[in-house]
Amino acid sequence: MSHPKPDTFTLPRFNEIQAEQTVPALQELIAQHRRKLAALLEDGAARDFDALVPALEEMNHELSRAWSPVSHLHGVLGSPEWREAYNECLPKLTEHSTEISQNVRLYEAFLNISEHLPADSPDAARALVHQALRDFRLAGVSLEDDLKKTFSDTRRQLAQVQSKFDQNVRDATDAWHHTATSQDEVSGLSPATLERAAALAREHGCDGWRLTLDFPTYHDVMIHADDRNLRERFYRAWATRASDVGDTPQYDNSEYIEKILELRHRAATLIGYENFAEYSLATKMAVSTAEVIEFLQELAEKTRDAAQREFDAIQKIAPFPMQAWDYGYFQEKLKQEKYSISDDELRQYFPVRKVLDGLFELAGKLYGVSVNLIQEVQSWHDSVLFYEVRDETGEAIGGFYADLYARPGKRNGAWIDECVVRKSLNGETVLPVGYLVCNFIPPDANGQSLLTHQDVVTLFHEFGHMLHHLLTRIDYPSIAGINGVPWDAVELPSQFMENFAWCEDVLTRASGHHETGEPLPESMFRRLTESRKFGAGLAMLRQIEFALFDFRTHAEYDPAHGGRVLEILDEVRRDVAVTDHPSYNRLPHSFGHVFAGGYAAGYYSYKWAEVLAADAFSAFEESGIFDQQTATRFRSSILEIGGSRDIMDAYVDFRGRKPTLEALLRQSGIWKAA
Ligand SMILES: [Zn+2]
Repeated sequence: MSHPKPDTFTLPRFNEIQAEQTVPALQELIAQHRRKLAALLEDGAARDFDALVPALEEMNHELSRAWSPVSHLHGVLGSPEWREAYNECLPKLTEHSTEISQNVRLYEAFLNISEHLPADSPDAARALVHQALRDFRLAGVSLEDDLKKTFSDTRRQLAQVQSKFDQNVRDATDAWHHTATSQDEVSGLSPATLERAAALAREHGCDGWRLTLDFPTYHDVMIHADDRNLRERFYRAWATRASDVGDTPQYDNSEYIEKILELRHRAATLIGYENFAEYSLATKMAVSTAEVIEFLQELAEKTRDAAQREFDAIQKIAPFPMQAWDYGYFQEKLKQEKYSISDDELRQYFPVRKVLDGLFELAGKLYGVSVNLIQEVQSWHDSVLFYEVRDETGEAIGGFYADLYARPGKRNGAWIDECVVRKSLNGETVLPVGYLVCNFIPPDANGQSLLTHQDVVTLFHEFGHMLHHLLTRIDYPSIAGINGVPWDAVELPSQFMENFAWCEDVLTRASGHHETGEPLPESMFRRLTESRKFGAGLAMLRQIEFALFDFRTHAEYDPAHGGRVLEILDEVRRDVAVTDHPSYNRLPHSFGHVFAGGYAAGYYSYKWAEVLAADAFSAFEESGIFDQQTATRFRSSILEIGGSRDIMDAYVDFRGRKPTLEALLRQSGIWKAA
């Protein structure tokens, strides 16, 4: 095959891009767009789909492309310059999008287009107009002028406060460390954690191990640290981050939480919804707040007994009544005892390069695509890789950056984001490009990064999102890839992909001992499969706890009583959880998904989509996991369509029926046939 050239894509020039230049550039772009839109509406051309929509799509595309590196670099570098640029740009963008979504003339133009859309218009055009009209209504286009202003002020303020919430979590996390000085104190921790902590201590001129609160270290301590005091110390630090009872009260998020809930409620009621949960559902697959609560409660009821049995089994091996900082540790102990398989044992078989090769081979088998590393692409960090994706005919269809390792300042967690969205307008096609970001333990002195199986699952998950972004066939960027897809269905492609990280045929190819190259032995695979169900009930309840907390907090918000977040959290835990947490636990204060990001009144989406994903994967189990017909149907019904169709209709096209809870409960070992 010919060598692909990096200029297949127009990529951001990460070597040259300067934070201080992005603010005026973005401002200038917004000003240009404002003039273009005014001219479009002026000349009456706006009454026709072809005259208006492609022009608007071009502008949105251009703007999101300019904004993408700012938002991305803020997330992965966390430097003061990018933080400042991000915080300066965000309100300007919010203001601009609010202005557009409240533009009455534009709304009327869409109404007119909608009325005159030819009967044979393609699904995508129809869906685009339908969604645009919905979004105009959600943006308050029909409000009186003074209320419209209140609405946009509320949204602008909300964006700022959410961003401050996020910043506090990061600052509080970065501000904390604990220096361990004795071997006893660090007993049980993984060599990778110890190596990093020792290097950090040396950097700071200390002896011992400087343990920080990044997720890999925190996780390692909670699962492996034999010293109960160390676990408690870390649990407390983690569970009180950015709160009134944390070590750094200057980063307390208490007031921001109240403000965020108040602003969301105000925005929702201005538009005519009872609360923010209802407003949130306007763009989701779930139809009503009652449907969501019932869904979560039914799942909780069917899970609770299994979770209680799991908890009792763990308690049995602990020499004392367990506290919150003991669950993970003794669960891991029991898992090792039962399946004699540990994260560290598994890690030996999952060098990151080998896992990537296996993952890309799988994508090839299912969808006929090839994923190739491109060397010359510049990025924001030496460890970042760039891959190009080609279809079965050898034609490039997209590309992505992979930023895999934890670094100071980088936001925790794993995610993908859009660098460029697919666009095919006026005869010109622009290919999609994405960012795939993880926080794996960085390569050791030998350049080796070994993943846990959980990391492997995470990588498959994010790559599932990436395929959704890259395989789209939709020409209009506003409904291409993950755009315009209901939030509660957006995790379907990613959670679906996770299932393959539990298949022997896939794992054998995605593994290779870092010293011998031997793939994961069958006996280990069998123990791994058995261990999958281990703790599944407890994990399920924990997610339901988060989801109910999030949904009820937004559905029950009453301005007269404020957010009541800790009260609601207690109630939810009483109703659902089988584990206890100390009263100082401040989960909400660092719950970025809900208070800083897009999962507000939408955290249930993870479970909702998991039900869809398990049910979809069961179609592959029925036909053989690499079955071409099933894979092609999944690709064309789900992965390619973006937001161009009703997702339930599309799902029924793929599966031949609506989804049921059964596959997920069976897969987790929770289901018991009557
Ligand atoms: Zn995801």
